[in-house]
Amino acid sequence: MIIFDDVHKSFGAHEVLKGISAEIAKGQVVCLIGPSGSGKSTLLRCVNGLETYQRGHISVDGTVVDAASSQVHAICTRVSMVFQRFNLFPHRTSLENVMEGPLYVLKEDRKQVRERALALLNRVGLADKTNAYPASLSGGQQQRVAIARALAMRPQAILFDEPTSALDPEMVGEVLQVMRALADENMTMLVVTHEIQFAREVSDNVLFLDGGRIVEQGPAKELLRHPKHERTKDFLHRVM
Ligand code: ADP
Ligand code: MG
Repeated sequence: MIIFDDVHKSFGAHEVLKGISAEIAKGQVVCLIGPSGSGKSTLLRCVNGLETYQRGHISVDGTVVDAASSQVHAICTRVSMVFQRFNLFPHRTSLENVMEGPLYVLKEDRKQVRERALALLNRVGLADKTNAYPASLSGGQQQRVAIARALAMRPQAILFDEPTSALDPEMVGEVLQVMRALADENMTMLVVTHEIQFAREVSDNVLFLDGGRIVEQGPAKELLRHPKHERTKDFLHRVM
């Protein structure tokens, strides 16, 4: 579904991604871990065209992501992103936030969009918050609206960038539970996270990124229990 082939990305003279190669198959959950500044967010943003890259290729379901091409609009509607800081529209209700993309980007029928949005809010456990504004919701509830909004685009894959890092500890579980349910339904997911237990239980593969390179990648249980590289071991010691 998502293929990275020797992806290089620089901001000016600063090379942030130094030849990333990895594959995420349809229905797989892959967790991307690594220290702050290692390039995790940048890699995610390259997948849906929020950033350009200079060398190599990224493809989504067979289409190369090239921010300069007209295809990129098509890609970002097929790959949804969930951010650390929710990024909901503050002056729109939960329901309106979820309806926004399908209505104005996909230009779908309002009645059907509304029905699907209601069903999605129900699915993330927020059937009673459809008319609430973001400011009146907890962080965990806002993030669940953001996940419903991502699903409303009927994405082929969802990218999560530290979806629980901005949450109070007691709200982390409810968001991970929604993500776990998506994984069970075989949604293709690339998740940047420091939740190592989630990574171990839910993901198929783990990529460990450090200094713009994938230092180690492999099946979650193996990599997280028996990391081979010193840098992976160090990192896991610090976050676990
Ligand atoms: P991570 O998500 O792993 O913490 P990022 O992808 O955010 O890492 O950042 C990787 C590196 O790229 C950092 O050194 C960061 O300062 C740099 N960087 C990220 N975004 C920009 C930008 N828009 N302009 C310049 N440098 C950036
Ligand atoms: Mg980041």
